[in-house]
Amino acid sequence: MNFLTSLHSCDALLDEPHEDTPVSDARPAVPEPVQEAIRTLIRWAGDDPAREGLLDTPARVARAWREYCGGYGEDPSVHLTRQFEEVGGYNEIVLLKDIPFQSHCEHHMAPITGKASIAYLPRNRVVGISKLARVLHGYARRLQIQERLTAQVAQCIWDNLQPLGVAVTIEAQHGCMTGRGVRTPGVGMVTSRMMGTFLDDPRSRKEVLALMGY
Ligand SMILES: [Zn+2]
Repeated sequence: MNFLTSLHSCDALLDEPHEDTPVSDARPAVPEPVQEAIRTLIRWAGDDPAREGLLDTPARVARAWREYCGGYGEDPSVHLTRQFEEVGGYNEIVLLKDIPFQSHCEHHMAPITGKASIAYLPRNRVVGISKLARVLHGYARRLQIQERLTAQVAQCIWDNLQPLGVAVTIEAQHGCMTGRGVRTPGVGMVTSRMMGTFLDDPRSRKEVLALMGY
């Protein structure tokens, strides 16, 4: 099979203009028990939640966490419902490469920052290329482990697009490793999930990994 990478070239892969909802200025109220929990954590860390610089911190932290975990409020598969069947005979790999993302580890609630590459081999149907990134963010904005995040993104594309193959690789740094514990900044963790053609055919796997830069 002759694989080509298509990032932006094919019209059918382009998105309609962004339908992002504008960022709201409205600040949701933060229930007192949530703020108190954060004050408790500040005390536990050794500081005084009553000092001036920390007065508004509990509400800010609470709102930030709603945002970090915004993925709980969405089903990432909705981003894959709009599919294009007119692909002009395009039957090569579609790859979205080096998508930056942030998540949080479920063991320490520490940041996971990295980049993901998502590829699939279409079976007559494609989605707007940025939708792949939206699926990633939908799962990343939860408490995660990198292995599960990788698998969930791949499975979502597999189930909803029913492509011939899916390949997802994620390379990320874990705040719980770089900022605490063994304190090893610069160490990246790589995970991958291959499905269909990319799992069954070593040559296809090698090809897609090479396109991803591995
Ligand atoms: Zn951790």
